[in-house]
Amino acid sequence: RKAVTIVGGGLAGTEAALRLADRGHSVLLLEMRPRTTSGAHKTPLLGELVCSNSLKSLSPQTPHGLLKEELLKSGSPVIESAMECRIPGGGALVVDRDAFARRLTDRVLSHPRIRVERRLVDRLPADRPLILATGPLTHPSLVEDLTTHLPGGRLAFYDAIAPIVEADSLDFDRLFRGDRHGTPGSGDHWNAPMDRETYERFCEALLEGEQVPPHEGVEDHPEVLRAFQACQPIESLAETGRQTLAFGPLRPVGLVDPSTGREPFAVVQLRPENAEGTAFNLVGFQTRLRYPEQERIFRMIPGLEQARFLRHGSLHRNTFLDAPALLKEDLTLSGLPGVYATGQILGVEGYTESVTMGFLTALVLDSAWSSDTPWTFDAKTVLPPAETAMGALLSGLFPRRSGTFAPVNLHFGLFPRPFGATSRRIPREQIVARARRAFSGWWAGRSDWDSRRLGVGG
Ligand code: FAD
Repeated sequence: RKAVTIVGGGLAGTEAALRLADRGHSVLLLEMRPRTTSGAHKTPLLGELVCSNSLKSLSPQTPHGLLKEELLKSGSPVIESAMECRIPGGGALVVDRDAFARRLTDRVLSHPRIRVERRLVDRLPADRPLILATGPLTHPSLVEDLTTHLPGGRLAFYDAIAPIVEADSLDFDRLFRGDRHGTPGSGDHWNAPMDRETYERFCEALLEGEQVPPHEGVEDHPEVLRAFQACQPIESLAETGRQTLAFGPLRPVGLVDPSTGREPFAVVQLRPENAEGTAFNLVGFQTRLRYPEQERIFRMIPGLEQARFLRHGSLHRNTFLDAPALLKEDLTLSGLPGVYATGQILGVEGYTESVTMGFLTALVLDSAWSSDTPWTFDAKTVLPPAETAMGALLSGLFPRRSGTFAPVNLHFGLFPRPFGATSRRIPREQIVARARRAFSGWWAGRSDWDSRRLGVGG
């Protein structure tokens, strides 16, 4: 039996705490609420959902449904609690938020191997192992201390996410290939050329588009507003002047359209999001437009008329680590031996994604402890394969492409391409069937996790 300290009693922290305690380990869980508030949380309850009460789709034909299926098969206490507090919500897992957080809090507080202390952690505790699960609204005092431990701006204060669209929903006849100042007709990017009239209509729509208002008490803070100024949403840039976008993210310089031999008036660049080329990112399109507005307005871009969105854009307050730079394969943080980060602060985004990382961190830590040869312990042999939904999410934290890291939420573009698939189309049915097989095989090999689960009475 070993002992671990976890900071943060949100979705990831409670998942990790319950999983490890059920395996017989002692857990000290430190939570700042109710004495200190995050601005968004309203109760003293653990696992409080700060916004929507939906944990997204339950259909195993969707990435989020698959992820929840895997979590349930592996015995996730958080998703089990959510299922017990389910209310009608169509095909989605919608919960009575109060009942859910209460159930989770009771489960944690009544566990004989979990001790909860309600206090603000304002500097990195010396306890090892340590799991940081302080979420998107990590208290600023801890953020400040963490920046002294992490080299070179590896902790972000807000995220700026551009939408991702499915390759096979694009009309490539209307796009041209080419990198800026590269050889026309070749390169990694695809470009959507706009003439002046299309550009002006597009800017007009951006200006009129309905935006998500700032979250009260969280995003109306002057420091956050300053941060948003430094990385403006596309619609805010458009507000500063009619030509701003044409001289900014839509500048045509160095992009010659082979069909005309000239630079267009403006260009939207599409950057591949995965090695398979099944998903593309709209370069520079971080936005606070509402999701339906993003779909309506961005489909005005030539070639994107039928675009299907794998991920929408966003810009919000979010504390997260530069996972690709900091995360080691055993899920500890580089330069901080014995320190794990999990949940949203690690670089995933969303309720279910955060729960998943809470589980995977617990799994790795427990496996390292249980290993007969801890000095040769290899986390890769323990973690789920990339074909599973959990593995696909994890792979987003170790991207094969370089570039600025943006938080990862699960979508079909993260799954590896099935062998033999050649078109740009994402073969959803094949991916789903393969994920279910891969998960069953992987979990069968983890049977020790289930059989050695002690529960509260153990
Ligand atoms: P949290 O659930 O936030 O838990 C972190 C815990 O750590 C909190 O209880 C906090 O009080 C505690 N804590 C923080 N700092 C300290 C400290 N220094 N000392 C001690 N305790 C500390 N996701 C969705 O899927 N759907 C949505 O609709 C949605 N809306 C959101 C709206 C807002 C305003 C924000 C900020 C996020 C939203 N998210 C949403 C993201 C979602 O909140 C996270 O994905 C999820 O809650 C992350 O789980 P977590 O355990 O990592 O963090």
